[in-house]
Amino acid sequence: MELIDQYLRKVNYLRVSITDRCDLRCVYCMKEKMQFLPRKDILTLEEIERICDNFIDLGVEKIRLTGGEPLVRRDILKLIEKLNNKKNFTNLKEITLTTNGTLLKKYAKELKLNGVDRINVSLDTINSEKYNIITRFGNIEKVFDGINEALDADIKIKINTVVIKDFNENEIEDLIEWTDNKKIDLTFIEVMPMEETDISREYQFVSLSETFEKLNKKYNFLISNHNTGGPARYYTSNLLSTKIGFISPLTNNFCATCNRVRISSTGKLFMCLGQNDYVDFREIMRKDFSDDYIKEKIRFALNIKPKNHDFMIGTKINKYMKRHMNVTGG
Ligand code: SAM
Ligand code: SF4
Repeated sequence: MELIDQYLRKVNYLRVSITDRCDLRCVYCMKEKMQFLPRKDILTLEEIERICDNFIDLGVEKIRLTGGEPLVRRDILKLIEKLNNKKNFTNLKEITLTTNGTLLKKYAKELKLNGVDRINVSLDTINSEKYNIITRFGNIEKVFDGINEALDADIKIKINTVVIKDFNENEIEDLIEWTDNKKIDLTFIEVMPMEETDISREYQFVSLSETFEKLNKKYNFLISNHNTGGPARYYTSNLLSTKIGFISPLTNNFCATCNRVRISSTGKLFMCLGQNDYVDFREIMRKDFSDDYIKEKIRFALNIKPKNHDFMIGTKINKYMKRHMNVTGG
């Protein structure tokens, strides 16, 4: 079975935010004082498994666990173990996660044992003081230890770096050299106008088209045919052994090939990261509707998946999403 939306895009990738909580407070993602949801509002392990099962039945092949910080949810390994078993008898081919890396040292080996072969680690700087500032209190050594542990466990890592005005713009080449030395791919991401944090987006936003042009003078990028079906465009360079990706939703729209939907930790299915519409599955599951009904609702949701995101950053037009990034996990 396949999930095809009204614009004939095949959706085979589900991102699941398993918690809205996090052990950091990155300044572009969250406010300093965040109000997290009561546990009763968050999907239980069984509910997450059930919604995943229905998506898998409908053709989803890849599931990414995210958050908040997915590794702060205590039963994450149980969930991954259950999902991993499904790879033997369903459409599911890959389970992966996006993490800030602070708890990777503790979890890397078990993640690998439970079939997680690739992860994305978010890291915006390799300078410990700057890391402490951007995350509001984080300790970069934990992330370095976690990355090393994951590499030792033979987990492939990709680093995601949000490029932030007057913060890490001058560090981009250092990050490229650092990841290249470790043989890790690196993707740069534009700040997206999710719900306001404590700092205006206009003071954070950098156009990645401009970043690309500057870097291209040194690296003479070559377009890579590497394609994850996602929004990143990848490049190689004769000066590098790794790939560099650019995710630039604001300056370079990628919606035509969108292959994913996102479920929030409370069971809301967002058909587009850059739109506010959702279909709520928590109530459907808690009112004991059948799996056939859930599948019908998933198909309905796919039918109203928007053509484009609606992100804009600017002084004249400000369009913000009514949720922080930890709701859907990017
Ligand atoms: N806590 C995990 C982490 O940081 O990797 C997973 C969740 S986090 C919300 C997922 C990704 O979203 C991270 O790479 C983070 O840098 C990115 N992110 C958060 N807020 C963003 C924003 N406003 N614009 C662009 N990326 C953002
Ligand atoms: Fe936490 Fe990830 Fe948001 Fe940073 S980007 S505050 S690590 S959820």
